[in-house]
Amino acid sequence: MEVIHISAECYPVAKAGGLGDVVGALPKYQVALGNVAKVVMPMYRTKFLYDNDFELVHEGGQFLGAQYFNYAIIKEKTNKLGFDLYLVDINGLLDREKVYGYDDDTDRFVAFQIAVCDWLSKWEHQPDVIHCHDHHTGLVPFMLQHCFAFQRLAHIPTVFTIHNAQYQGWMGWDRVNLIPAYDNWKWGLLDWENTINPLASAVRCAWRVTTVSPSYMEELRQSANGLEALMNYERGKCAGILNGIDTEVWDPATDPMLVKNYSHKDVREGKRKNKKELCERFGLDKEKPLFVFIGRLVGEKAADILPEAIRQSIYQHHGSAQFLVLGSGDPAVETSLETLKYQFQGYVNVFIGYNETLSHLMYAGADFLLMPSRVEPCGLNQMYALRYGTVPMVRSTGGLRDTVRDFGEWQGYGIRFDNADVSDVVYSVGRALALYHDSTDLLQWMQSHMMRLDFSWNASAQAYQELYESARG
Ligand code: ADP
Repeated sequence: MEVIHISAECYPVAKAGGLGDVVGALPKYQVALGNVAKVVMPMYRTKFLYDNDFELVHEGGQFLGAQYFNYAIIKEKTNKLGFDLYLVDINGLLDREKVYGYDDDTDRFVAFQIAVCDWLSKWEHQPDVIHCHDHHTGLVPFMLQHCFAFQRLAHIPTVFTIHNAQYQGWMGWDRVNLIPAYDNWKWGLLDWENTINPLASAVRCAWRVTTVSPSYMEELRQSANGLEALMNYERGKCAGILNGIDTEVWDPATDPMLVKNYSHKDVREGKRKNKKELCERFGLDKEKPLFVFIGRLVGEKAADILPEAIRQSIYQHHGSAQFLVLGSGDPAVETSLETLKYQFQGYVNVFIGYNETLSHLMYAGADFLLMPSRVEPCGLNQMYALRYGTVPMVRSTGGLRDTVRDFGEWQGYGIRFDNADVSDVVYSVGRALALYHDSTDLLQWMQSHMMRLDFSWNASAQAYQELYESARG
């Protein structure tokens, strides 16, 4: 079977969050199952582009509203990622350093989707399944079925994966001219509450819809940023498939970003050396338990409660815990964290920004990883933490609930709490400290046990395979 993934991100080409990790890994595992897997994404101006060789495979042009644009499709020559990678170049729109965050993001991603559909409709060869990811590609299922220019592809099954339903790509109806001419009777498939909603459109038009964990699928029926009724109505074609992690990239035994590689057999020694490096770099004490947070500093991740939760934890536990935060996002949260860093020198440090290498070292060197998320469709951080022997401390929601078992339960290996609030975090830090100082070898047993859990893509890739088969059938 041949599947083509359409996505705004793919690690290591360009990544802003979990979407990049998923699209960088799933196709590899699909190839291992005997499929042909391809990824097509925008050609941003990232390091990967300059460090690798590409060949031109197609050139074309289309309209974005009244504006004609030219596009080019280039393909990475050496199959470096383990699957075919195609980049879409549109000068003036996609040639930027960052993935998102520009005023014209709507135009950029609509143009990207038009270019991909145009290319696919002109290719003499057709994939068996088209798999779209998140709202940046949410108009593709509609376009393939109802835009006159692309109807040659209308028979190809489309699968749409919701990685995060908070962002839906809304655009006003005054921008409808951006979408190529379509059967006007079908306008309702674009609309949700008087707005063009690409995520809602994809849920309606895709042949199958998935979310990145079973619990998140359940939650979306209760709370989906306005799409609850739609998620209930379309439940027959929806499935929750838990994300996996790329166990080649995320392997403490081989990870080149660590100062000391280790496995479950020498986890204590391995983590000790990485922690020492981390503590020296950030002015922390290598003898004290280290709690870290890695991620976007946004409300979904409950980053707003972090400064107060950290402050209270330090006071209430008499300075026996120390914290390191890596992330960027809400400027108010960034400022509060920076302030905390100066107030609690030696107890708290903060790195504002995105740093892949540091994130790996933190997963390896930390004792505990905090994830008080309000919303967590799947969450990859907790799975990376488990793989690196770091105890995840998570709120019971979405994929966190599906992947972390509290150590109070039979064979549990993490810490779970119910509310994204300061008191639950402070209480959980207390439980973590007790675990850290426990005189039995419980923590070491947990570390060795969690590192051997299987969160690889094998089972999930198989589940996608069955989903594709059912869509084709
Ligand atoms: P998201 O909702 O952001 O997609 P996920 O848990 O699914 O959350 O994935 C987050 C991914 O992004 C992980 O690989 C995490 O390590 C990485 N990440 C997030 N913020 C940063 C950062 N500031 N620096 C480095 N990596 C980061």
